Amino acid sequence: MKPVIGITPSPSLDAQPHGTFLRYVLNEAYAAAIETSGGIPVILPPQAENIAHVLGLVDGLLLTGGADLDPSLYGATQPHAATYGVDPTRDCFELDLVAAALAADLPLLGICRGIQVLNVALGGSLIQDIPTEVDSTVPHRQQAVGLPADAVGHDIEIGDHPAIAGLFDGEILGVNSFHHQAIDRLASPLVAVAHAPDGLVEAVVRPGSSFFVGLQWHPELMFRRHPEQLRPFAALVVAAAASRLVGAR
Ligand code: MN
Repeated sequence: MKPVIGITPSPSLDAQPHGTFLRYVLNEAYAAAIETSGGIPVILPPQAENIAHVLGLVDGLLLTGGADLDPSLYGATQPHAATYGVDPTRDCFELDLVAAALAADLPLLGICRGIQVLNVALGGSLIQDIPTEVDSTVPHRQQAVGLPADAVGHDIEIGDHPAIAGLFDGEILGVNSFHHQAIDRLASPLVAVAHAPDGLVEAVVRPGSSFFVGLQWHPELMFRRHPEQLRPFAALVVAAAASRLVGAR
């Protein structure tokens, strides 16, 4: 049986003629990347209870991109003026999922907001707004310079940690970029394994976990044009399959 990958969606207000509705939405590219990698994607809507039961239904977790985490979760005394889209229900659900997944050594891949969730869940903090807080000319919001979602916005330099070096060819990788926040204080259990030219963290791993990877870019938006960008999803699916064999799930 193929491994099942639970994917966290984003809240989205949808104004229709018959009312305005809070929906949980997922970019199809996440599901396509998991399916193309041989996994079964399932969407996990935020819920306050039964986290262990939810985790028991899946073999791996994919934390997706989205709006900002509540800055108070990492000790910021005041939210930056550029903070947007804070959703305590999603924050709480994803942080609970990460804690439970760590305890069970369930394979985890965090993308964009997802790498930030992983860092905050383990005690790290975030730069709240790169444009106003970091002296950088790297286009971390490439839409601002007119680049499409599947185009390379900037390069990253990949270190030699085997958990990330094995995923990509070479030391320099072109990635897309759609973030105004980034890792500030790195959580102590994590290792930063890729950096942008301005020094910002673009990938983390957690040594000791069977598969624990955070990426600050969006490989799901690139893999159709840049096939090597499917590799993080393929690696998650392989780790999830192995975890199913080893664990009691
Ligand atoms: Mn970036």
